[in-house]
Amino acid sequence: MGKVALITGATRGIGKQIAIKLAKEGYDIAINYRRENEELANAKAEIEKNNVKCLTVQGDVSNFEDTKRFVDEVINEFGAIDVLVNNAGITKDMLILRMQKEDFESVIKVNLTGTFNVTKNVVPYMMKKRCGRIINISSVVGISGNAGQTNYSASKAGIIGFTKSLAKEVASRNILVNAVAPGFIETDMTSVLKDDVKAEIAKNIPLKRMGTAEDVANVVKFLASEDSSYITGQVINVDGGMLM
Ligand code: NAP
Repeated sequence: MGKVALITGATRGIGKQIAIKLAKEGYDIAINYRRENEELANAKAEIEKNNVKCLTVQGDVSNFEDTKRFVDEVINEFGAIDVLVNNAGITKDMLILRMQKEDFESVIKVNLTGTFNVTKNVVPYMMKKRCGRIINISSVVGISGNAGQTNYSASKAGIIGFTKSLAKEVASRNILVNAVAPGFIETDMTSVLKDDVKAEIAKNIPLKRMGTAEDVANVVKFLASEDSSYITGQVINVDGGMLM
């Protein structure tokens, strides 16, 4: 049996590119999605072009019962999960004076608790196999902070603490846990920004451009591969040099 990767929130954006990149490496892919739409069918078709299997599993990562069910679906179909990429994430940007309690809680619940929920259900299978890779998608704002993103940056900083603690817990079982911290990446998440705002952001990035989802996927591919077998508990920024 080939290797299997589960990627959460993988119908579009960074998650989709990660799924395609790992499919090109020969992984059978399970993509988790929240809402069924034509993007899901497109992602599945693109993955299958690489002669690998693609299972789609529905579920809201912030709901523990959903994650338990969809992890079981992946195990029933493929028998193992070798690589887990916790990618699903949302923003609800607002200055704290206007931010409602619900805006704070929902971002933490999807981004941070969602990462816990899926990981908690996957780790027992990796432990049994005595190997595995867990790659959590954080953000540079989890390190630097950003006005208007107290909820989001707290969730992404939380993912970094989670990554380092888990890396220490499971290293003896040969499970490697790392985080990737993207900077500004061109996806739906950043498409809400006006063009002049994007241009201003790009000006302040040493490499003078926003990143692509593929820039992030390339690093995830490395962290999933044998080439990174002595790396755990790390945060790798993919940000064109924004944060040094
Ligand atoms: P995106 O284009 O908005 O895509 C987000 C994906 O997550 C969608 O597939 C979405 O599914 C899914 N998702 C959201 N909530 C979910 C839930 N509760 N359960 C399951 N899936 C859920 O975002 P992106 O830019 O690709 O971001 C991917 C990850 O990278 C996120 O964790 C984000 O925080 C992080 N990141 C992005 C940037 C950036 O500049 N774009 C920078 C740093 C970090 P639906 O279609 O059903 O909503």
